[in-house]
Amino acid sequence: NEESVISISNEKDKFHDGLLVSEFDEASCISRFQSHLYRKVSHHKPSRYLISKVRNYEELHRRCGPNTIAYNKSMAYIENSKSNNGDGTMCKYIVWSPTNGLGNRIISMAATFLYAILTNRVLLVRFGKDISGLFCEPFLNSTWMLPNNSPFWKQDHIETYDSFLEKGRSKTNKTKEDLPSALFLYHQYTKEDPENFFHCDHTQDLLRDIPLLIMQTDQYFVPSLSMITSFNLEINKMFPEKDTIFYHLGHYLFHPSNAAWGLITRFYKTYLAKAVERIGLQIRVFDPQVTTQKEIMDLVLSCTIKNKILPKLDTQNSLSYSKNHTLKAVLVASLYPEYGQNLRAMYLNKPSVSGELIGVYQPSHEKQQKFHDNMHDMKAWTEMYLLSLSDVLITSSFSTFGYVAQGLGGLKPWLLVRPHMKKPNSPSCEQDLSSEPCFHFAPMHQCNGMPQKHFASSFPHLLQCKDFNRGLKLV
Ligand code: GDP
Repeated sequence: NEESVISISNEKDKFHDGLLVSEFDEASCISRFQSHLYRKVSHHKPSRYLISKVRNYEELHRRCGPNTIAYNKSMAYIENSKSNNGDGTMCKYIVWSPTNGLGNRIISMAATFLYAILTNRVLLVRFGKDISGLFCEPFLNSTWMLPNNSPFWKQDHIETYDSFLEKGRSKTNKTKEDLPSALFLYHQYTKEDPENFFHCDHTQDLLRDIPLLIMQTDQYFVPSLSMITSFNLEINKMFPEKDTIFYHLGHYLFHPSNAAWGLITRFYKTYLAKAVERIGLQIRVFDPQVTTQKEIMDLVLSCTIKNKILPKLDTQNSLSYSKNHTLKAVLVASLYPEYGQNLRAMYLNKPSVSGELIGVYQPSHEKQQKFHDNMHDMKAWTEMYLLSLSDVLITSSFSTFGYVAQGLGGLKPWLLVRPHMKKPNSPSCEQDLSSEPCFHFAPMHQCNGMPQKHFASSFPHLLQCKDFNRGLKLV
């Protein structure tokens, strides 16, 4: 019986306090109706304004989404015309195009959805086989999948944002006829790292009238959106609590498919449900060649024991004399099996000083990041989601995998420092400022082209990320 896993929840939580519509068919997406049973009641409530914006967006998606007359008409126009002399009644689109791992994909999709809402564009996604079947459809009676027969699966024939900016610089008065009908925007970190001025009003003024944008991105660029004057006003109204943007958008968009939900709930009920406390531990090793497993294990233990997340071992006795035998469960997510194995053995071989029993469970150990592998991504999604159900979360710095878990859980994680950055007397981990993902490659210039080292000082809700000092995050 599903009710047996209820933490504390009620009917209102079921639909995220009105953010989700209730008309979906339950059998097609069970998590949509049951996920609230696995979470504590949240004190983060969506604002009425956010709910109204999302209802308007849904209406737009229903009218302009795939398989509608408006879609066919608008796409035919976009496809057949090189420049934009549309009559203004067309639908506008943003096609999200994936790059990098699943964490990067999820956080960048959430950012792109917010951009779609702010610009009255319909969000379509290019899901390859690797991530198809992970999520339910988010929009009622419609689809967010770019249709298979769309010419916009490719972008080689489409003008790029870089050349578009270049042309813009050489011309003073741009007219609407100068604008292409489709534009490919590359919004991800590259080694050259040119400034893209996406965070500027003048760029947004130009992009506004282009009917189709293809955005290839792996970044949570919401902090950039909050730098744009008109968007900032809207974001403030939609999210009076700035540190809940991913939390709300994530719960709106990313419902585990029935296949993923089966994996999540079976694992949860088998290993986690009975514990008095659930601790999520995500160990992402970015440089396995230079970091030893011992260094990482030492970091994890020093972080968890110092911050009283896990108890010390009683090395003197082989039996515990404490009466407290409560069970804590640690969910370990890592590509490597050794972390779960070591921690499990530690707490089975010796009692803890507190007498608490520590169960350690690691769902998978894929050894390496794999691409174009659906089951691999399914495991990653399952683990991000399970981590998000933790009471306490420990994540690895700079990992977007961890960001998804903290964001969906509304949790401020303990961030393990990157092992090579640890100084002898510095802490092994620090608690994060908010549950928002960090925007790693934040802008470096003001809109007039003047370099700006850090934008945090100019915007009250933006701070430098603790885990990556080039990054910015909302707090
Ligand atoms: P990031 O690289 O840490 O920012 O996170 P991403 O999710 O973008 O990319 C890492 C990818 O490696 C994941 O999507 C998974 O495919 C894989 N991966 C990394 N860590 C884990 C883990 O703990 N569990 C599983 N199942 N996969 C992982």
